Amino acid sequence: MAISEISLDGGRLCLDFINSVSSRMKDVRMEYLMTMPDLIAWARRLEIIDARTECILSEKSVKHSKEAITFLKQALEFREILYKIFQAIAKKKKVHPEYLRSYNVQLKNYFPAIELKQVSGGFSESWLLEEDSYKRIIAPILNDSYELLLSDKLLKVKECPSCGWLFYDSTKNGKRRWCSMKNCGSNVKALDWYHRQKLPVL
Ligand SMILES: [Zn+2]
Repeated sequence: MAISEISLDGGRLCLDFINSVSSRMKDVRMEYLMTMPDLIAWARRLEIIDARTECILSEKSVKHSKEAITFLKQALEFREILYKIFQAIAKKKKVHPEYLRSYNVQLKNYFPAIELKQVSGGFSESWLLEEDSYKRIIAPILNDSYELLLSDKLLKVKECPSCGWLFYDSTKNGKRRWCSMKNCGSNVKALDWYHRQKLPVL
């Protein structure tokens, strides 16, 4: 699937990153981020990086393909750690200490480069990273996950029962069930209807 066609239903940057596979159901899972150019294009679409950084990182990924492959592998490993942590939260289970340990390794890896910048009306995060550092892609995702984990909004993190994507339920009544009505809700409704038709007539 083209990066521009991926549904963005997570409602939070870190959850959209987790949802960069077609489904979390084993048999039908398709990876969307197959190459470093995919990850760079995805980051640009999510406005993590600007057009200039996209150019710099793309050129670097072509010139030094080994490094690019290594970084992609690490990025996807981190995505899977995030998935395990937020899936446990969505299921209201305890996070396995091993996943938390891996997460903390990433915090230690990235946070020495964070600083606050004053902007109109408050502050925003800024990263002291080289302009050609791939870490520019993961740093804001890590920070978004960190903010969400420390917030009192964890009950809003849910798992789509149809595809296993995770999403942030920002509805007022908190009753959102599917990642999206279009992709999953309507499928399941159609399936319900189909099964109802098959019931024997009494
Ligand atoms: Zn879904």
